[in-house]
Amino acid sequence: LNRRLAEFGTTIFAEMSALAVRTGSINLGQGFPDTDGPEEIREAAVRALRAGHGNQYPPGPGVPELRTAIADHQQRRYGLALDPDTEVLVTAGATEAIAAALLALLEPGDEVIALEPYYDSYAACIAMAGGSRVPVTLHPDAATGTYRLDLDELRAAVTPRTRLILLNTPHNPTGTVLTREELGAIAALACERDLLVVTDEVYEHLVFEGEHLPLAGFPGMRERTVTIGSAGKTYSFTGWKVGWVTASPELVTAVRSAKQFLTYVSAGPFQYAVAEALRLPDSYYEGLRADLRAKRDLLSGGLSEAGFEVYRPSGTYFVTTDIRPLGESDGFAFCRALPERCGVVAIPNAVFYDHREQGAPFVRFAFCKRADVLADAVSRLKRL
Ligand code: PMP
Ligand code: GLN
Repeated sequence: LNRRLAEFGTTIFAEMSALAVRTGSINLGQGFPDTDGPEEIREAAVRALRAGHGNQYPPGPGVPELRTAIADHQQRRYGLALDPDTEVLVTAGATEAIAAALLALLEPGDEVIALEPYYDSYAACIAMAGGSRVPVTLHPDAATGTYRLDLDELRAAVTPRTRLILLNTPHNPTGTVLTREELGAIAALACERDLLVVTDEVYEHLVFEGEHLPLAGFPGMRERTVTIGSAGKTYSFTGWKVGWVTASPELVTAVRSAKQFLTYVSAGPFQYAVAEALRLPDSYYEGLRADLRAKRDLLSGGLSEAGFEVYRPSGTYFVTTDIRPLGESDGFAFCRALPERCGVVAIPNAVFYDHREQGAPFVRFAFCKRADVLADAVSRLKRL
């Protein structure tokens, strides 16, 4: 294994899901729903497969039906007009979109600013692209149970070597949804310092308070923003690995240059099914949000009763907790012991930090699980 990758070892999600299987624990670690998305969308995939739609290599940028549906979604939801032929690229999940964007846009030595704690593939992909990461840490505020971005710290992180900001809103693992003011300031900074922004918006529909605003809609951002989406989160089919990039023709062409040598294309029949999913009525998204909001409240309330300090997420399907009120301080040790102690798996937030010590006492739980599973997990955690 080369030096660029050696520091990353095995992703925490694989490690913790294997631990859950081995110990028969409730897996609130890796973020995936325990109930599949809409039956009619699953049927659409079966229909596509049977009809021979996409069983052979689909077109490089993705099937036209899906690219058009993605463009329509961005128009309907956010008023963003996109040309499906030149401004949309289908990828193998958001994971490939992140990798392809960074591989395409970075020169060796370029600096990438990312909000810490950050999703684990960011650091690995920056490294694979030869870039260097510059974390800007979100600060936990115990009084309000939220995380806060310090815009002065963000501004101070920009240097002449900064090539891009890698943003994520709604934010995994903290559940922070960046506000209009924060996004406006980030956009102004990007324009002033001539930076690109790759913005990971895979949780765009999972917002409980406030509203998701796409960075690409801010003044001056259309030409410098690569927006990433994913069907995995929005339609509860994480195994299908259908994601996408929307950006200017120049940026889409650049990302595609890398993507063509990573996977060339992603699985065909699922693309047709996701095209149908993108046309679900608003009531689908309202139902998804209401369901997850109730689950957030159930798990957050239970964790609080079990003695955790809870950071209340405004979006995503994760809740971050502080374990210090339980007399614990090392999230890694806590998560490794948790299956034996009470049959629950969670993720230590320290893995999402360069400043590991700052993430040490924080632990993330996923609430995209059936209510009875969450209730069972809570009763187990109360026995700690
Ligand atoms: N970005 C973030 C912030 C995520 O949490 C995830 C997790 N699934 C991904 C990207 C990857 O998405 P996909 O499964 O579509 O590759
Ligand atoms: N995004 C999911 C999470 O944060 C997991 C995705 C993965 O396993 N790579 O839990």
